[in-house]
Amino acid sequence: MSNDFDVLVLGAGPNGLTCGAYLAKAGAKVAVVERNVESGGGLMTQELSGFKLNSHAIYMLLAELMPPYHDLNLLDFGVKFVRPDIQAAFLYKDSSLVFFSDPERSCNSIERMSPRDVEPFRQLYHDFARASKEFIIPATYVPPVDPLDQIDLLEQSGELGQWVNELAEMTPRELIHGYGFSDERVEAALLYLASMFGLDPDGGGMGFLAPIYVYRLMQSSLVLGGTHQLASGLRRALESFGGVVITQSEVREILMRDNGVRGIVLDDGQEIISQAIVSTLNPEQNFLQLLDEKDVPAFLVESSQAWEWDEASLYVANWGIVGDPPRYEGRPEEVNRALNVVVGIENPNDVMRHFEGARLGEVPDGSTGHMSCPSLFDNLSAANHLPSFGNCEVLRFECLAPYDVDWSDLKNDLANRAFDTWCKYAPNLSEANVRIELPWSPKDIERHIPSMKRGAIKHGAYVSIQMGYNRPSPDCSSYRTPIDGFYVGGASTHPGGMVLLGGGYNAAKVVAEDLQLPIWWKVPHMVSDAIEQGYLPR
Ligand SMILES: Cc1cc2nc3c(=O)[nH]c(=O)nc-3n(C[C@H](O)[C@H](O)[C@H](O)COP(=O)(O)OP(=O)(O)OC[C@H]3O[C@@H](n4cnc5c(N)ncnc54)[C@H](O)[C@@H]3O)c2cc1C
Repeated sequence: MSNDFDVLVLGAGPNGLTCGAYLAKAGAKVAVVERNVESGGGLMTQELSGFKLNSHAIYMLLAELMPPYHDLNLLDFGVKFVRPDIQAAFLYKDSSLVFFSDPERSCNSIERMSPRDVEPFRQLYHDFARASKEFIIPATYVPPVDPLDQIDLLEQSGELGQWVNELAEMTPRELIHGYGFSDERVEAALLYLASMFGLDPDGGGMGFLAPIYVYRLMQSSLVLGGTHQLASGLRRALESFGGVVITQSEVREILMRDNGVRGIVLDDGQEIISQAIVSTLNPEQNFLQLLDEKDVPAFLVESSQAWEWDEASLYVANWGIVGDPPRYEGRPEEVNRALNVVVGIENPNDVMRHFEGARLGEVPDGSTGHMSCPSLFDNLSAANHLPSFGNCEVLRFECLAPYDVDWSDLKNDLANRAFDTWCKYAPNLSEANVRIELPWSPKDIERHIPSMKRGAIKHGAYVSIQMGYNRPSPDCSSYRTPIDGFYVGGASTHPGGMVLLGGGYNAAKVVAEDLQLPIWWKVPHMVSDAIEQGYLPR
């Protein structure tokens, strides 16, 4: 292998692979360097005894809306999404509420439980979908704008923009509460969707993110064959353009020349040379560990030391079973075919308690969380190609969880308790033969991906001082950093965590500009529309 590249990308997660693929197609000689055996980062699928278990990401919020999906022809590289029409079911003590990808079907479900809440829901869905489609999703695929300029643009653009500005003053709870739902179960369901990936329901100034979570969790998809198929597709695209992925190679140090970068040193002492480095690692790794303090401006050292980690992490358990999919007793038939089934939430305070428990270090008891049977929608994920087994299914339980506990035994206990809870709602599961159980705690998350320090699935908290133009700091949020040749583009940059591919996509463009590479991709229609509407700068 040559040890000299035009661009090195640190970390082969969704953002690193995306960035590498765009730059390789632009003609750069690119290597993506990854410490793990397999590329993918949070796009991880473990195949155990034929069951494909996703220990990290599973719900694709933007799927085909992500520009790289089309620009990189990921369909040709085997990436297919499936979007279930029944998205989420909430099981209450004496009733059920079902959200569909078709909002009118959701209205029918709300009507059966609380007719007075149909109109507030219709209004909320309309507002959230419009804000997401016209502004929030397009803004994902451009560099963040200076907050004062962004406020100004939105203010001038008209009533949607003015409304988005108001959201930036609210908490997610205030925003949802403001719709005036009369039945707290409806409000609780929406608040749960807003916060199930760790967004603080009481997070000051974070109301602007609630629309996209709620709207997209009613439109979410799975990657057929397991989440890792998306990483495989991105990697195949990258390789088809001449890029390489160097796995099992932990980056230990960034080498400097004068004021700029010169290359990296791997854990085995090998040096790889490049005058442009895009890191998708977290600010602590970038500016406090890999670079020598003397090469980092003091204000960057300070902002990296002050970086806040997510207050609540996630706990996930996956099972591979021989048996039938869950059949929920005494519930409408649609619940059996819902992508997510949420239990343990009766009112908004339960959502708050769930979040606060994780924040304050309480071990969850397995009675609250969301459950999914991905194999209902993705036959490839179960082990049904192994004929001797009988019918096989994959099950997944997920809930918010604290980092600061000793998970070594607790993670198995919690898997057992969650499974018991599931059996109470779907008694047929007690007859299942559990072939594989894979509990995954916040400590496992960090062990697998050190950039997710303290189980931070988004590489750092979503608090207003760490969003948009401030992510990871105003000096680096353009994806360029004050260090010549050093760029950032992972989840600790705008638009943040989750599988959106936005950080890698946006970083690729600035690197291409600086290296005078051809920008071969077109501005997505949704972005030009948002510019036309005045939501984003020209
Ligand atoms: C349990 C869990 C559930 C999730 N569920 C969802 C979901 O359903 N939907 C969704 O959209 N998102 C979900 N996420 C979040 C999503 O996975 C992440 O936000 C996303 O993967 C971040 O992408 P990234 O490319 O920026 O970084 P990462 O995916 O974290 O990739 C960073 C890469 O860098 C590598 N690396 C770290 N240090 C070094 C080093 N020194 N040298 C070389 N390589 C290094 C890591 O091994 C990793 O491969 C979930 C995450 C977790 C943990």
